[in-house]
Amino acid sequence: MEKSGWIPTMCYQCKAECAIIARVEDGVLKEIRGNPNSRGKACVKGMSGVSLQYSPDRLTYPMKRVGERGEGKFERISWDEAVDIITTKLKDLRDRGEAHKLTASFFPHSITDPKWRFLNAYGGFINTALPHCDSAKILAWIKTTGGVPNHHIPPAWFTVPEGGIMMLAGRHAFGGLEDASIPKDILEAKERGAKLVVVDPFFTAEAAKADQWIPIRPGGDTAFFVGMIQHIVANGMYDREFVANWIREGDFKKLQDYLADKTPERMSEICDVPAETIRQLAEECAMAPSVGVDSFKGVMLGNALDFSHAWCIFMAVTGNIDNPGGQPLPDLVPLSPVEPAPTPPSLHDLGWHRTGPDKDKFEKYSFIMEPTWYEAQAIRNGDLKVLMVAEANPALTEMGDYSWQKAVCEKDENGNYKLELLVSFEIMLSETSKHADLVLPDKSYFERWELLYMPWWYNFGHGVALRQPIVEAPGECRHANDVFIEMGKELSPEYFQFDDLVSYYDIELSGLGLSVKKLQEMGGHWSPGSIGFRKYETAGGFGTPSEKVHLYWEDLEEAPWSQAFPRVDLPLEYRAVLDDYPFVLVSYRTIFHSGSGQWTFNNPQLRDSISGFQENPLLMNPVAAKELDVSEGDTITAESPTGSVQIQVKLSERIRPDCVALGHGFGSTVGGVASACKGVSDNRLIPDAGATLDYQDLIGGEAHVSTRVRIVK
Ligand code: SF4
Repeated sequence: MEKSGWIPTMCYQCKAECAIIARVEDGVLKEIRGNPNSRGKACVKGMSGVSLQYSPDRLTYPMKRVGERGEGKFERISWDEAVDIITTKLKDLRDRGEAHKLTASFFPHSITDPKWRFLNAYGGFINTALPHCDSAKILAWIKTTGGVPNHHIPPAWFTVPEGGIMMLAGRHAFGGLEDASIPKDILEAKERGAKLVVVDPFFTAEAAKADQWIPIRPGGDTAFFVGMIQHIVANGMYDREFVANWIREGDFKKLQDYLADKTPERMSEICDVPAETIRQLAEECAMAPSVGVDSFKGVMLGNALDFSHAWCIFMAVTGNIDNPGGQPLPDLVPLSPVEPAPTPPSLHDLGWHRTGPDKDKFEKYSFIMEPTWYEAQAIRNGDLKVLMVAEANPALTEMGDYSWQKAVCEKDENGNYKLELLVSFEIMLSETSKHADLVLPDKSYFERWELLYMPWWYNFGHGVALRQPIVEAPGECRHANDVFIEMGKELSPEYFQFDDLVSYYDIELSGLGLSVKKLQEMGGHWSPGSIGFRKYETAGGFGTPSEKVHLYWEDLEEAPWSQAFPRVDLPLEYRAVLDDYPFVLVSYRTIFHSGSGQWTFNNPQLRDSISGFQENPLLMNPVAAKELDVSEGDTITAESPTGSVQIQVKLSERIRPDCVALGHGFGSTVGGVASACKGVSDNRLIPDAGATLDYQDLIGGEAHVSTRVRIVK
């Protein structure tokens, strides 16, 4: 393959997977830009993909562990031996009736990913790497509107009309993760006369461009939104047409009763936003032609489900569901199923679903996937025996990373690892692969085929896109998907009757009258050309049992940790540890790093001391620093209830005095660049949420976001 020219493909330096074009000269990747045919933009991470591609740290052959887990001692083996080790173990696991004790940890960047098929066919547990940080949001939107998971679907900012309001609530949208076009879309909407409001205790890059910055108290966002809803409903400013036609009968009356005492004044005491500001923004939102809110779990702390519930109610009463500039709902592309389709095991019945041994206690909260942090707990319980990780780094970038590292190294009374096999597919050694039994060299996103289809992918509407190999892979690299298909053919042949990955995608694309080749000839994208607003009008309603929007969640009436309407008070943890740990740690995102870290952390272009993000100091407000007699550049110890780090302080008025901030994704010491740069991981401080299952599980996990800390000089 000696390609030359500008070739369309898809970035994967972060989970946004933007459409890019890559300049290749005689088979060598030279340059990356956004694809102009797909509203193209490439961020700094995307453009630095060239450095990643040719990193001297690329893995080029399979390796087997020879020391203890975590020591990082390996010997070279063949692919045949590697695949044989895995399939032998998986046959053994299945023979023991424990197939569901396999899981794979990977980012499901497309529902076409054959790893899902492998897990379902084998009987393993479905992947654990869905960003559990937004699971509360997904759950809330499913409960409110029905339908497919509403993951990662920000408002289509390019559709915001003049006068529309764009609200970012604890969301660092300019830091990538959504789409490199987002900053441009938001700024162009502002130029069209839309208003940008940022609700965040941290003065982010977005706040710097905002018309209004609301430095809210972390965890106060539920109260803030409920205060706005109260003002809108009590004063008759709600969308009467939407409420009358599309909200389930009886729910609005119940909402009015619930709101009776939730005045802006009362909510102000909780969220530390003046009541006048709550009223002002509520009135503006009620009058605006559109309001879009982008958030994940909200503004830190563990009340994500309540916040997401309030968010859904707010969007419903203001008539901003599935309208231009409002909250789009996902749609489904008619891809063809690859028959026969495997049926996944009933994980809840098997006793291993999200809440694991406590499943009966929390039955109502079972969710579609396990969060990654649950791996550590499941290993200790004996519920996880084989873990295959692909392009993810739970040993570093999940909260409670130490807990994960300790769990994978834990042994039983016979001296055997409780986790019997840990496999890492990666392009370069990571903290996770350092702990693995097998390290398998994956192909980079410039070397492999991938059909991408994501119903939540707003920039293409309900379209599909193609990632294609544009350069040769080094050494013996193989795409993890090819390896999973090979193993599927051996372990569950009835479900793997296609030839290879491309034929698998060809079957799926046949539903659209397409094939991989045809899609390639079309420039790599297919879209119906519309993101299909107000689909509920033509679809006969919403996907809920009543086909209307459900504001009231009756299944949570008796729930210990949530309610049929949102709780507005701050989480218990927040209040319980205030005296000992007076600061909230805000974990923020930068454009230089993606959440899973290793690829961007170990990239020289992104760690450059002038144009990149080399260190990761603790940001502290000067007022708070003065009280503690801390000065710029001092090295302090930050302690949380579960960990501590020594770190330099950088004074900044960007952060509330009751908060401190750390960038997320740092701390790796593996790789030539990473080991030469400074920066601690926020996860040294953020606890393993599995340790507080009673609470965390219900609200969707507060992964990567916050904890309470104290500063010791
Ligand atoms: S946001 Fe940047 S790194 Fe992420 S996919 Fe888009 S271009 Fe690549």
